[in-house]
Amino acid sequence: MEYNPRTGQYRDDNGKVIPKTQILDTIEQERRILERKIEAHSQNLISNSIDEFEWERRIKRDLKESHLKMVALGAGGKDNISQRHRGQVGAALRQEYNALFDFRKKRQAGEISDRQLVARSKFYSRSLSQSYHRSEQLTRAQNGATLAKRTLDPTAKHCPECPGYSTRGKFVPIQNVVPPGTRCSCRGNCKCTVVYRVA
Ligand SMILES: [Zn+2]
Ligand SMILES: [Zn+2]
Repeated sequence: MEYNPRTGQYRDDNGKVIPKTQILDTIEQERRILERKIEAHSQNLISNSIDEFEWERRIKRDLKESHLKMVALGAGGKDNISQRHRGQVGAALRQEYNALFDFRKKRQAGEISDRQLVARSKFYSRSLSQSYHRSEQLTRAQNGATLAKRTLDPTAKHCPECPGYSTRGKFVPIQNVVPPGTRCSCRGNCKCTVVYRVA
């Protein structure tokens, strides 16, 4: 895969542009992989193969790895990850880690049943697409894009906030566009897309 910083598009080895839908599928695949890993850690905790600290450590490790993959995807490859990308994903990960810390404390206090543990821990996979979209916006701005258009897929599952972020078919200044998953209860697990443009 080759990334074009001017258009923000990837091309495959035959030179064919990879459609955005395929990028979104890649994010969803990674989310499912992460979800399964987290589920396995929770099952291991339930069966006492690991303790709460090890459970937390493994989830943090897997979250970090998957988020960094999303950042790289939005940046046009690992080599394009800048300090600002790192700062952005670092802040997002700290939030996840804090929530995980509180969750672990509650589990240790006996407030979380096994069933709740499995169901709720899986939710940690849902912040991945946010990291992709934030990285993409930062990357495109760094590469000269000044305008963006955010589109809602009305057939997709989205939260009550998503429609308010659509720019209704218009290109607007890039800084006015909220990347999907940010300040949004579906966390970007919708099919909202953003197109960027160099003015
Ligand atoms: Zn949403
Ligand atoms: Zn959305």
